[in-house]
Parts: sequence; structure tokens; C-alpha cells
Amino acid sequence: MTARPVLLADADAFFASVALRSRPELAAAPVAVVAHVFIASANYPARARGVRSGMLAQEALRQCPEVTLIDVPRAEIEEVGDTLFDIFHDCATAVEPGSIEEAFLDVGATDWAGAIDAGHALRRRVSSELGITISVGVGSTKLMAKLASRRAKPDGLSVIESGEEAVLRANLPMTDVWGIGATTLVRLTRIGVFRLGDVDGIPKNELQHVCGTAMARRLWRIREGTDDAVVRPVELRSSLSAEGSTAGYARPDASPTELALACVERLCKRAERAGLAGTGITLTLRPETGGKAIVLRRTLVAATTGREAWLAAAVDLLADASVPRLAGLRVTLTGLLPLDRVHDTLF
Ligand SMILES: [Mg+2]
Repeated sequence: MTARPVLLADADAFFASVALRSRPELAAAPVAVVAHVFIASANYPARARGVRSGMLAQEALRQCPEVTLIDVPRAEIEEVGDTLFDIFHDCATAVEPGSIEEAFLDVGATDWAGAIDAGHALRRRVSSELGITISVGVGSTKLMAKLASRRAKPDGLSVIESGEEAVLRANLPMTDVWGIGATTLVRLTRIGVFRLGDVDGIPKNELQHVCGTAMARRLWRIREGTDDAVVRPVELRSSLSAEGSTAGYARPDASPTELALACVERLCKRAERAGLAGTGITLTLRPETGGKAIVLRRTLVAATTGREAWLAAAVDLLADASVPRLAGLRVTLTGLLPLDRVHDTLF
């Protein structure tokens, strides 16, 4: 192996697991978390009864009438997601986020044993600190790590070692290669490509014609084992938000200022990691009595990463407004720019 092993760490039924931390009595029963009218996440007992993410809540109830439906606890989800990434960053030299609860990790291990040890340690830590489980896949490339993590689920660790890899690559169903569109999949089956090994018998120009030059190249790379194995810790975006609520798992009620400051701290950490500086801050307050959200905005004179500036702005905004009792609030950092560009424009 030329590169270091890649880990994929992925929370198991994330939203449902977070929601169930404060309702352990429901853990063995079918439970699903609902966003708007759709199932956002179902725990494993619910999955066993046919409840799936993306399904309409009504359809889930038809499939499994005894499923307990819970609203997404957004603030709690975010907090757990942020702490999960804190732990990822603590355990890895590079972290490439895939979602709020999934990331590729380079743990700096040069051999399988080291990577596997790191994976076990990470799983133990997440379970004890966050009260949720993650599964970890270890492989020579991102795709192999992803396939290993699928096999590890739920609450497990799985490794695809070199010996197994060759067989797996040859037999890999095309539907398991991410990024291939439905139309291309159909076109591939028409020329007899159902599994990755089938591309061996297809002339180069024919494969390029059927799925495009870039995808054909990617398929050959996956076939020969030289697909993407680099964990890239880049995250570019123009705004970042964090939510806080006044009630939740193992947390006493907090004042609006405390909530805002906790959100700002989380956002500063995320912006710092992503190498971003911002120019604006928005506080969106949700009154306890329901009704219209109160929006408070401030633009800073210069783009900054300094948490003191953001904390001060949040405190000022709250002090200047008449703030009712809150159910929760959201803080957004806006006008985010990569740090290297900020330095160019400012100095
Ligand atoms: Mg997950």
C-alpha cells in the first residue's frame, strides 16, 4: 500500500440516536425523526419494520403503525454534530466532512493495525462522550472505507484489507459506485456492465461514449485501485449557522446570552477549521410563545476570525433589543471568505 489507510466514521441513525438519548425507554422500539412531513432518520428497529429515510411520515405509519414519530431536535443535533467533529479533529490529522455526522479521516496511521486501533478508540470515545454510536470503515481509498463502513453498521468497525480488495473491486455492483446517474447506469447495463470487473471487456472508447470521459476514467481508476485516497480538509461556504434551545438532553435552561455565546463559540471553531473569516452576524430569536422570529443583524468593519469580536457583537445585539423569553435562537456568521483572500483585501 502506498498511501495511509482512510477511515470513514459515520453516526448510526444519527437524528434518531440523538433524539433517543433523552428517551432511552424507546430505544428498543421503532422510532423515527420527522422533518416537515418526511422521515429524516429511523432507528434500527423501525428500519427492520420497513421505515426508511425520505419516506412520508404517513407512509411510515402505514408500514409500522406503532412507530413513535419525534420532531427533529435541531439545536441538539447541531451540538452533537459539532462535538462529534471536535472528537474527529482530536483523533485525526485530516478530516473531510461528508455531512453533519460523517467524515473521512486520516488518523496518521501508516499501517492497518494503527488505523484499526484508532477506529476502535474513536468509537469508544464517541459512545462515552456523546451517548450515540458511530460505525467506522477502514480501507485503502475513500470508496473502500465507505464500503467497509456500510458493512460495519450499526455500531461496528469493518476493514477491507488488500487481499479482499481485489475480489471486491471486480465484483463491485455499479450501483455501489457513488456519483453514477440513473441514466448512465441503464446505459452501462446495456453494454453488459453490471459489476466493475465487467469494464475490463469494454473497449476504452465505448466506455467513454457510454458514461463520459471523466466517469470512464474514474471507473478505470477504481478498477485498478488508484481511486481517491486523499482526505481533503476543505470546507468552503459563505455562511455558517448554529442553533441553541433552552431545553434539551442533560442541559439546564440557559439565558439568551448564554445560548448565543455557546453558538458563537461553535461557529468560530467551525470557521477557523474551514479557514474562513466573516463580516456579519445575525441572531434569529424564537419567542417561547411562538409568533414571529426576531432578527438582529450587525456587520463588522472588517472580516474577522476573532471570537472576541463576534462574542461582543452578539452581547451588544441582545443588550440593545427587548428580548422575550425564548424557545431558542440561531446565530449565523455571514459574508464568509477564505482567509487568504481576506488578507489580500485588507492589508
Ligand atoms: Mg450516518
